[in-house]
Amino acid sequence: MQEPLRMVSSFLKLLEKKYNPVFDDTGKKYINFAVDGAERMKKLILDLLDYSRIGTNKEIASVTDMNMLVDELKQTFYVTINELNAQIITNKLPILPNTRKTLLFQLLQNLIGNALKYHSTNTPIITINAEEQHYQWLFSVADNGIGIKKIFAEKIFVIFQRLHSKDDYEGTGIGLSICKKIVEMHGGKIWVESEFGKGATFYFSIKK
Ligand code: ADP
Repeated sequence: MQEPLRMVSSFLKLLEKKYNPVFDDTGKKYINFAVDGAERMKKLILDLLDYSRIGTNKEIASVTDMNMLVDELKQTFYVTINELNAQIITNKLPILPNTRKTLLFQLLQNLIGNALKYHSTNTPIITINAEEQHYQWLFSVADNGIGIKKIFAEKIFVIFQRLHSKDDYEGTGIGLSICKKIVEMHGGKIWVESEFGKGATFYFSIKK
């Protein structure tokens, strides 16, 4: 799927480059729509590939230091964190045996990425905590962003479900369904609690 799409994209770009002077404004607009559509299609294919690949690689379960994982993610999001002047606050997080680090990375990457993306006019503050319970660890990723209406709290974990148009926020609606798959692979559950306009807290559990 990627190869024909690459072909569409590169010929659209050539068309844009070579014939730009002869296109009128409407023609330029149409080409822009087509380039934009091809870009979004590419993102969708890559995200779908990610979704379908979860758990298929042969990564052996081992020990994941969640503190190190969050440190790595702060590096990953360095530019956005700086731009938004965001703060990521954590208490001491556990070291989890019998887990797949790359998957837990992907899980937190999606949750932190969303907390940054769906920020409100407040300076983003993201708090990551973990609580030890009898059979599991309960993690929370809380933000002070735009929040989610209660009626959508379950829907957002379904693949392709989005609450916004692509013009308001970029996205494919796959991130949280990836999170759900990863958490379930670790014997846990994921859900959100939120008050619309006042931020959202995503909870997920990981079986001990
Ligand atoms: P995407 O971000 O690509 O749309 P996701 O599956 O990651 O897809 O999220 C699904 C929807 O859930 C988003 O479109 C957004 O409306 C909502 N959402 C996710 N995380 C948050 C958050 N932290 N605050 C508010 N809304 C969120």
